[in-house]
Amino acid sequence: MGLVSKGAKCNVDGCDENGARSLNTAKVERAGLRVNSGGKKSVLCKVHYKEYKKESKDDRSLERARFDKF
Ligand SMILES: [Zn+2]
Repeated sequence: MGLVSKGAKCNVDGCDENGARSLNTAKVERAGLRVNSGGKKSVLCKVHYKEYKKESKDDRSLERARFDKF
């Protein structure tokens, strides 16, 4: 939160939008987003945060679907 309020930029490679959320870098990378923060926390802009949420939701529903089959 502190990073974002200081006006940090999105950490996704090639993105120059203002940060909206700061998240755990490992989680962001697991969602398929490439970040260049180098720290434990990464800043995401609105668009990439949406993408992150979508990706992590997809993961969960995929797992659930897999469980349903067995
Ligand atoms: Zn971005």
